[in-house]
Amino acid sequence: MRLAARPVGEVRPEDWEHRSVPVEQPGPGQFAGRTLVISLDPAMRGWLDDRPSYLPPVGLGEVMRAGSVVEVTASNHPDYRPGDHVVGTFGVQEYVVSDGKGAMKADTSLAPPSTYLGALGMPGMTAYFGLLDVGALEDGETVVVSGAAGAVGSLVGQIAKAKGCRVVGIAGGPEKCALLTGELGFDAAIDYRAEDVRKALRREVPDGIDVYFDNVGGDILDAALTRLAMHARVVICGAISQYNNSTPVQGPSHYLTLLVRRARMEGFVVFDYAERYAEAARAIMSWIQDGRIKVKEHVVKGTVDDFPDTLQMLFRGENIGKLVLELT
Ligand code: NDP
Repeated sequence: MRLAARPVGEVRPEDWEHRSVPVEQPGPGQFAGRTLVISLDPAMRGWLDDRPSYLPPVGLGEVMRAGSVVEVTASNHPDYRPGDHVVGTFGVQEYVVSDGKGAMKADTSLAPPSTYLGALGMPGMTAYFGLLDVGALEDGETVVVSGAAGAVGSLVGQIAKAKGCRVVGIAGGPEKCALLTGELGFDAAIDYRAEDVRKALRREVPDGIDVYFDNVGGDILDAALTRLAMHARVVICGAISQYNNSTPVQGPSHYLTLLVRRARMEGFVVFDYAERYAEAARAIMSWIQDGRIKVKEHVVKGTVDDFPDTLQMLFRGENIGKLVLELT
């Protein structure tokens, strides 16, 4: 699946081109693999724009960048044998040839391939380092997270609960809010589509927010800024409400509460923590095993032709937990 045109605003079907080419054979030091499952990430929208960011944009005509898990079918690589499962940035394609750079084995006896794109993959690492390092969370604090029923948000809330915190999630719709306060054990949930977030925060966090983990930006970020406790930390993880803008990003108008509350707001990119991924994966795996983290995955079954529409599900809020496309 290749990028055919640079979208303006929402991505359209005609921005993609599905091209069939013969499957390559692996050269020296390479392995070939068949794609099992592909990750869908809000960040993909940013990679389509031709502007400087933390990664270069996907070039016109290039295979779309994506994380995926492949099963090795043939190998001239010393570390990989046929049958191995490997997670890496292999792109939206059915077959891959790779030199293994930036890839690693996924132990599918411990968790299914999709979990290496979710709780044990990039979203898990993002939740762990964003909350604990950037957010400098301390046990027993009050945490508010937006995009709370999504891949990153659902893990942020559950990690904070594992640390004995009071956790309030902000998400769209009653089904997602019921999941948060039910199975996922959040203390409260705010349905931003049904109620005024500022008023709801006044009710749910009367003593203020110690860590606000922001996945969405826009009005919700602004509302959270009005409720900061002294020395609060605002973690800028993402701003999905702004990614399809063709006008400038909406900035927060309530940022002066940072001054009044001696608070800080800090952004981060998960890739900067690559050397510590094993630490996060160990911790998350142990929380999964002792039941403190429930893994939520939204699996769409289909072909690479289903990639464009599956990606849009993130922007329509149609996913619960980590969204992946499983190739059938
Ligand atoms: P999610 O699984 O959370 O999916 C996106 C969700 O965003 C949707 O389900 C929807 O939930 C919500 N959403 C969509 N549009 C809006 C809107 N206009 N306003 C409010 N909410 C909206 O995605 P991820 O967990 O993969 O990513 C979450 C965030 O983390 C993104 O901003 C992403 O860019 C960021 N990120 C940052 C990283 C970093 O290194 N800084 C690394 C990985 C992710 P709902 O129904 O509740 O609206």
